Amino acid sequence: MLKIENIDVYYGAIHALKGISAEVNEGEIVTLIGANGAGKSTILRTISGLLKPKAGQINFEGKSIAGVVAQDIVKLGISQVPEGRRVFANMSVLENLELGAYIRNDKKGIQEDMENVFVKFPRLSERRSQLAGTLSGGEQQMLAMGRALMSRPRLLLLDEPSMGLAPLLVKEIFSIIKEINASGTTVLLVEQNAHMALSIAHRAYVLETGRITLSGDAKELAASEEIRKAYLGG
Ligand code: ATP
Repeated sequence: MLKIENIDVYYGAIHALKGISAEVNEGEIVTLIGANGAGKSTILRTISGLLKPKAGQINFEGKSIAGVVAQDIVKLGISQVPEGRRVFANMSVLENLELGAYIRNDKKGIQEDMENVFVKFPRLSERRSQLAGTLSGGEQQMLAMGRALMSRPRLLLLDEPSMGLAPLLVKEIFSIIKEINASGTTVLLVEQNAHMALSIAHRAYVLETGRITLSGDAKELAASEEIRKAYLGG
């Protein structure tokens, strides 16, 4: 579904991604794990069109998308839930969700998807007229995910959904990610919480300072000595 080949990405003089290649197959949950600053978010930002690779190829469903602007990437079926949620604080839950559907004009479909979001996230349903800025961190994460789903993506990019959340909420968010995947959305998940990420992913890539150092089946990686020592606390 998504194929990244040999991409190089820079921030000015900083060489953030050095020849990254990775693939996501339809139906999978693939996770990118690695330390702070390894380049995980940079990969997502490059796929979603916020950054342009200096070299390399990105193909989505057979089309080259490297350098395509973010708005058009959403239209092609890729939606990103950014790190730190970035909900519109002064708008209601409902308005935030409506904004997620800005590229669509099928009113009936939008209404259906809105109802689906409320089924997946009952807490959002109860708070539909509340201002997003007054939601808890976990609720804002749910809203950011709901907003991304409103564009009906085939590929959902999630950047650190567990950040700053209590363990119980992290569990809840991860079980919703599994559900979203089970209902047909392919997921590329960036996480610091390697334990949780590997527990729901089919495959994983390990990133170190802009390079992929390991990749494979998520369960096998979770069991490997190297990963246990470096990312799972021994
Ligand atoms: P984190 O979990 O801390 O977000 P990450 O693995 O997602 O880590 P990135 O945010 O992708 O890492 O950062 C990769 C590298 O690029 C880091 O060295 C970082 O300092 C640098 N970088 C990220 N954003 C910028 C920016 N806007 N300008 C300059 N350098 C940046």
